[in-house]
Amino acid sequence: MTDILDPATERVIAQVPGSTGEDTDRAIAAARRAFPAWRDVAPGDRARLLRRFAEAIDAHSEELAQLEVRNAGHTIANARWEAGNARDVLHYYAGAPERLTGRQIPVAGGIDVTFREPLGVVGVIVPWNFPMPIASWGFAPALAAGNTVVLKPAELTPLTAIRIGELALDAGLPEGVFTVVPGKGSVVGARIAGHRDVAKLVFTGSTEVGRQIAAAAAARLIPVTLELGGKSANIVFADADLERAAATAPYGVFDNAGQDCCARSRILVQRSVYDRFLGLLEPAVAGVVVGDPADPKSEMGPLISAAQRESVAAYVPEGAPVAFRGSVPAGPGFWYPPTVLAPVSPGDRTAREEIFGPVVAVIPFEDEADAIAIANDSDYGLSGSIWTENVGRALRVARAVESGNLSVNSHSSVRYWTPFGGYKQSGLGRELGPDALEAFTEVKNVFIAT
Ligand code: NAD
Repeated sequence: MTDILDPATERVIAQVPGSTGEDTDRAIAAARRAFPAWRDVAPGDRARLLRRFAEAIDAHSEELAQLEVRNAGHTIANARWEAGNARDVLHYYAGAPERLTGRQIPVAGGIDVTFREPLGVVGVIVPWNFPMPIASWGFAPALAAGNTVVLKPAELTPLTAIRIGELALDAGLPEGVFTVVPGKGSVVGARIAGHRDVAKLVFTGSTEVGRQIAAAAAARLIPVTLELGGKSANIVFADADLERAAATAPYGVFDNAGQDCCARSRILVQRSVYDRFLGLLEPAVAGVVVGDPADPKSEMGPLISAAQRESVAAYVPEGAPVAFRGSVPAGPGFWYPPTVLAPVSPGDRTAREEIFGPVVAVIPFEDEADAIAIANDSDYGLSGSIWTENVGRALRVARAVESGNLSVNSHSSVRYWTPFGGYKQSGLGRELGPDALEAFTEVKNVFIAT
């Protein structure tokens, strides 16, 4: 049994069995047995079942949100959005079964048609930072395309995934079509990654483990989708609406206490407005409401664990260039204050490594070329923002930054109907949006002589 803690109180809120390798094998075997019948469910019926699954999540969204507040320390506003996101992703891909069309290609002597066939058992391995959304980005399109799914939640945050697994059964998904196996990465995760009956892997987590997953996929030559780390740049040009750029910058990095792969954890500011920007940023950071995640007024909760807090704190040793920081509640809980480091040079560790906590590095730049060079001087390329009132510059910079998800005069990264994923060491492949479905199918070509 593993103790599950509330990171805001450090109290044990549940105990979850750690599944073994044999449990994992059984879940994969059940998913394999369930596959032929699920693949053959009529498209309209599969769509209806997925909609029922979405509606079950909707009907229990408050329960799921409260569970996430306690298990992950997410603010209640965020947790409600997250349950709603899982519901919406299911509804979106519930539109897919009847639209999973192939092609008819002109040939001599017959007809040629293509089919999009499901792959089989899909293994989905997810991290602790956004348990519900990230799981649904894998399982919803996989199920819609006719695959069965084995989902492994993160050790620290299995509760919503386990509940969603029960809701799937309640909604009428047949046994074995969607199975949640909580447990250790080194046991359950590794077993899924290396299992000969798993036909595709979807992994979200650290770049380090992502490499191991890619190696396991390569050993069996199966497809893999990877969503990994990030060190995204929020680029603020002198011609931007500086008030708005500064007022929103904290939320672009401190949301979910900075434990967000899309966190804009480098703020690049044009030197001519650097001091003015920092002057505007300071009250914005002081204004971030850090507190009890169950309180609707809270904007930031605790970090996920004591270990995560230690790892974040190690980036801010004595003598670090702390320009200013926010506050945290006293008492128990894995709290860490919003922290702004400035000025930071692009080569510093805090400008290069993913901190995955509420720490942001502010870096001055000279001109557009310099901003692009600094933004791209990173192993990662997941997300980023560009603040300017000049449309031409916005487009030039958006095209030049090596990153999968950019926003101009905004910090939004994720919409379930647009593609999401990273360049470079931020990942491989894209989730969400109209094309993600294809990553869960094989194309089959059939020629029929006439
Ligand atoms: P992690 O890589 O340690 O773990 C992720 C998942 O993999 C967990 O379920 C874990 O149990 C499992 N795992 C661990 N070792 C494994 C192994 N050897 N074989 C198979 N599975 C294994 O990551 P984490 O600490 O849980 O999450 C934080 C990381 O996730 C950050 O680096 C963050 O940037 C990244 N992340 C990326 C995205 C994205 O979409 N790009 C989204 C969220 C998080």
